[in-house]
Amino acid sequence: MVDRYAAIVCDLDGVVYRGDPAVPFAVESLREAGIPIQFATNNASRPPSAVGDHLRRLGLEVDDSSVATSSQAAAWVLSQHVEAGARVLAIGGQGVADALTDAGFVPVSAADEEPVAVVQGYGPAVTATDLAQAAYAVERGALWLATNTDHTLPTASGYAPGNGALVLAVGAAVGRGPDLVAGKPDEPLYLMCAERLGVAPGEVLAIGDRLETDIEGAHHAGMESLLVLTGVHGIRDAVTAPPQARPTWVAGDLRALVADVESLEPIASALGEEWNARDAAPTGSDVARVLPEVLAFLEARHVMSDGAPQRVRSE
Ligand SMILES: [Mg+2]
Repeated sequence: MVDRYAAIVCDLDGVVYRGDPAVPFAVESLREAGIPIQFATNNASRPPSAVGDHLRRLGLEVDDSSVATSSQAAAWVLSQHVEAGARVLAIGGQGVADALTDAGFVPVSAADEEPVAVVQGYGPAVTATDLAQAAYAVERGALWLATNTDHTLPTASGYAPGNGALVLAVGAAVGRGPDLVAGKPDEPLYLMCAERLGVAPGEVLAIGDRLETDIEGAHHAGMESLLVLTGVHGIRDAVTAPPQARPTWVAGDLRALVADVESLEPIASALGEEWNARDAAPTGSDVARVLPEVLAFLEARHVMSDGAPQRVRSE
């Protein structure tokens, strides 16, 4: 299927690796794909060089410029609104300040330094004092950008409050949400990747494991998308997805990229018909109840996990 696209924007966790180890078939399939790839992550807690090291250790021949973080996307979108050289309050880990510096801004750490914008990203050392500085700057009129609004951050000990939770804390103080969000499902991260790749968004395939971020983001950016069932979401989630979170393709794993896409009509029509039925259901009917035989069919096909991609969205 990859020959239908000029480039790929690929999510990382749940697609390329899970924690440290590679997802089965991911590395060899991406190597075999043979078109340019940007690896795009909402998680800005590691700098691109650390992510690049991880990918190279897994066997992918990438350089650090192949990694796109939501901190970089925040700096990229900020440069469309604010002159280079402006002072910007950097909240988060070192990745936020580094991305701002690389984009020609001057990162500062206090509202009294009169920043014209605030970029708020995740950092394990962010304190209530930092959040207060962000609130003061926003109250004084600074443009407020969030790198992402993921509410949770999975850790070895459980779910920690993610950047979205810290954004809500600032929002509770200032009485509104951020002016711009850089990460998925908002479009800046994907559009920055398309610009780096030098192709139109419509020529890019976005790959991910989460419907409400990776796939919905692809819709917003005007990209077709592939949901792989190696991470967060399964076929049941895809069946019940709202229209804006429905992928173009569904596959068990990344072997789909280099697989033949003809001869696979049954599952495509089963999932497509289920979606159509849900969309056409009369108001008040129970659209959450999926036809059991349809779901059993879809699950049986995906349990086989032969790597075959299934085109499920027609437009
Ligand atoms: Mg993921």
